[in-house]
Amino acid sequence: MRRLHGRSVSAGIVIANVALVQERPLPSIGNACSADTPESELARLDNAITQTQRQITKLRTKLEALPEEGREEIGALLDVYERMLGHSRLIRTARARIAKDRLTAEAAVQQESETLAALAGPKPNTPEEEREAAARRAGEFREIARRLLRNLTGVSFRAFSNLPVGCILAAEQLRPADAALIDPTRIAAVLSEGGGATDHTAIMLRALNVPAVLAVTDLTSAVQDGDLLIVDGARGEIVVNPDPATLAEAQAAMAAEAQERKGISRLRRLPARLTGGEDIELLANVELPAELPLLRRNGAQGIGLLRSEFLFDEDREWPDEMAQYAVYAGIVRGMDGLPTTIRVLDWGGEKGLERLRMLGYAAAEDGGNPALGMRGLRLLLHHPEILLTQFSAILRASMDGPVRVLLPMVTATNEIVTARELFEKAARRLRRKGVKLPSRLPPLGIMVETPAAAMTADALVQHADFLAIGTNDLTMYTLAVDRAMTMDSDLYSPLHPAVLRLIATTVNAALRGHRPVCVCGELAADPHAVALLIGMGLRSFSMTASALPPVKKLIRALSLEECDTLRRQAMLADDPPNLRAVVRNFRG
Ligand code: PEP
Ligand code: MG
Repeated sequence: MRRLHGRSVSAGIVIANVALVQERPLPSIGNACSADTPESELARLDNAITQTQRQITKLRTKLEALPEEGREEIGALLDVYERMLGHSRLIRTARARIAKDRLTAEAAVQQESETLAALAGPKPNTPEEEREAAARRAGEFREIARRLLRNLTGVSFRAFSNLPVGCILAAEQLRPADAALIDPTRIAAVLSEGGGATDHTAIMLRALNVPAVLAVTDLTSAVQDGDLLIVDGARGEIVVNPDPATLAEAQAAMAAEAQERKGISRLRRLPARLTGGEDIELLANVELPAELPLLRRNGAQGIGLLRSEFLFDEDREWPDEMAQYAVYAGIVRGMDGLPTTIRVLDWGGEKGLERLRMLGYAAAEDGGNPALGMRGLRLLLHHPEILLTQFSAILRASMDGPVRVLLPMVTATNEIVTARELFEKAARRLRRKGVKLPSRLPPLGIMVETPAAAMTADALVQHADFLAIGTNDLTMYTLAVDRAMTMDSDLYSPLHPAVLRLIATTVNAALRGHRPVCVCGELAADPHAVALLIGMGLRSFSMTASALPPVKKLIRALSLEECDTLRRQAMLADDPPNLRAVVRNFRG
């Protein structure tokens, strides 16, 4: 028996035999000059491109058979591959090298893809939060080169179709497009020696909901084809040829997991209702459309926060009104009549500013600390054309189902007034063009995530249709602690008396102003904190989809009186450790 460890990518316990999938290596290519004419090498390259395009089209047809969760993610990646096979920099420079340096098509593709991958990949000075995205981009160049090289050299790709049903698939490397070849009804779990927790492959395996562990040290040397394995996806642990006691333990854990899954699906159909009959609204936060199936499975009553930043990702083309509309409409329709709250672009970190600078937007030249200046709504009001386009796309999508619009980083009423004027202007323009819109425009709400907004919530509610309290930023700006730098330390904790008082001020202003209010920061994912917030008068919460079942489970066991008692105790706690202890010790 041996234990291996890797990065947890997708949860689930599986006991099964492993199928090791190897890939025949490519012959060495090097710096080969062609004995043939450049014309014939260019023709070989063209053939390989056409062949690769055909294979990608074939992969696309396989998407239809995948669960909905995987389709979108993999489809988007195949789009990237197709673009790279078109008039891309890779193909252009490879052609130039063939013509100028008389390289073979193989050498030109390999050298140019490596150069571009090195340019796109993380550098020593790349900020930590951008490293994964940079590595992903570099991986895309390598993957398309690998496909071209296999077609140029005739060394075949590996196939997953003839693996035994119910096996654990293990490979040295698993590429994102391989995920399109994985049928989650036939493969019990996926392991690989390479890969990270947040690269494309990982995102796809999660979307496919297959238990998976990547970056497993020594996987291919420690495991023989056919070995019995226990895979614990959540822990990132693999046991090779377990002894009887370990096997029995894993079987019990698997049974418990199945029981829990049943519990979650039962819970999904039950209301989030306190023991006294008061209903609580549980919504989901969404960062990527691929999360939609999970939030439906976990019983979300709508989307309380759609972070629209993914649409403006640096890897994508800048989305125009219709491109944005297509995405919003897809999500709104997918929610089947449940509300979708779309937050307009909330940029402000260095990443967003860099892209704006490249697009020639002047406010990006502001300088200073990007967290403390031109960010969120302020940035959009500086560039009203960005906001007008996004409003127009959202307004169009409001014909596809119930939509609410959310403004990030509000600090003053005049910002809401100006944003509303733009919102109405976008609607007037669309109507003038003959676009049909609902007779009443969607509600326009605000994020309360700065102390300024919380302290003046009584004034803001006069202009906002609803409030969403963003405890992530509210904590950062109140406590002067960077949320990104110290997420794990006690310094950054929303359970601080100051944050709690700002939440109380906001909730009271909303209730007095008869405006709906919800909490959509990470605090809403903590069941005990939710009990406290219910005691403070909140009845609506939006959280990451995986937190919905435990939060609902606790709510269904709670009375309003208990929540109120917790609130009184919490309000008496005068320092953060005491407050955290009160909340942690709630219900023993
Ligand atoms: C928040 O600040 O609490 C919030 C929900 O917004 P984000 O995490 O997207 O900044
Ligand atoms: Mg925020």
